[in-house]
Amino acid sequence: MEENKNQGMLYLCATPIGNLSDITERVLETLRSVDLIAAEDTRNSIRLLNHFDIKVPLTSYHEYNKYDKAKELVDKMKSGQSVALVTDAGTPSISDPGEVLTDMCHEEGIRVTSLPGPCALVTALSLSGIASRRFVFEGFLPSDKKSRREVYGDLVNETRTIILYEAPHHLKNTLAELYENLGDRMIAICRELTKKFEEVKRMRLYEAIGYYNENEPKGEYVLILEGKPRKTIKEEKEREWSRMDINEHMAMYEAQGYDRMEAMKKVAADRGVSKRDIYKELI
Ligand code: SAM
Repeated sequence: MEENKNQGMLYLCATPIGNLSDITERVLETLRSVDLIAAEDTRNSIRLLNHFDIKVPLTSYHEYNKYDKAKELVDKMKSGQSVALVTDAGTPSISDPGEVLTDMCHEEGIRVTSLPGPCALVTALSLSGIASRRFVFEGFLPSDKKSRREVYGDLVNETRTIILYEAPHHLKNTLAELYENLGDRMIAICRELTKKFEEVKRMRLYEAIGYYNENEPKGEYVLILEGKPRKTIKEEKEREWSRMDINEHMAMYEAQGYDRMEAMKKVAADRGVSKRDIYKELI
């Protein structure tokens, strides 16, 4: 849809995930200059705005009014008002209702810009020391068991690093389910990022289960889980024989140019048995 020059626009403003000094100058300037600030939790945001002495009208925009309120905000922007969106903490649209308003603005031809800043998943990933070149963000796991099982099914062969958000009262159950469904792996459990009690615990899932049985989880968590190790092509090739019987296994080496005795030696080594055992099988 065409943008109308007399319309207002939407500013997605990233806010601190703990440490108030992490707010950017650009976000402060924007919050001071817009006509209206839409906030996920107005009580939370009032504290933030008071801290920076920002006096701009606030309105609530949250999970339970996100469709109706998005329409209302879009109408205000169409009539020329500029709106800033701040969610509970971090970057709007990342595991919060921001995406609905953003989508509606694009659909209605209203300009949107995003002011970058704190985001829990990026902060945790950079801190974790776990492979960060390729990653997949799952956000919160679904609350019903069946949907969670489906997600585990999708993740079991995922080779990229997996990032999850988790609340303290679900952490123990999530760790146990991850272990059960994805096997033992390295995990970095990042807690209370940028806050006084910031902590990153790097351990195997099995150890993490034991640790949190002894230490009750408290605070906000991001989990950075190692992806499934990728086999090299060489390793894959070397394991090809595991689906073969001994004759096929012998034929594989003979086709590669080994004579019968050499092939027998290689087959015996692959299978961890003696050459004599292979010979007996073959005759
Ligand atoms: N939009 C936010 C962002 O940019 O990260 C995320 C919003 S989501 C509703 C809130 C979740 O983010 C929390 O339950 C927790 O998993 C994670 N989170 C937010 N702040 C955090 C912090 N300081 N330390 C660890 N995790 C945090």
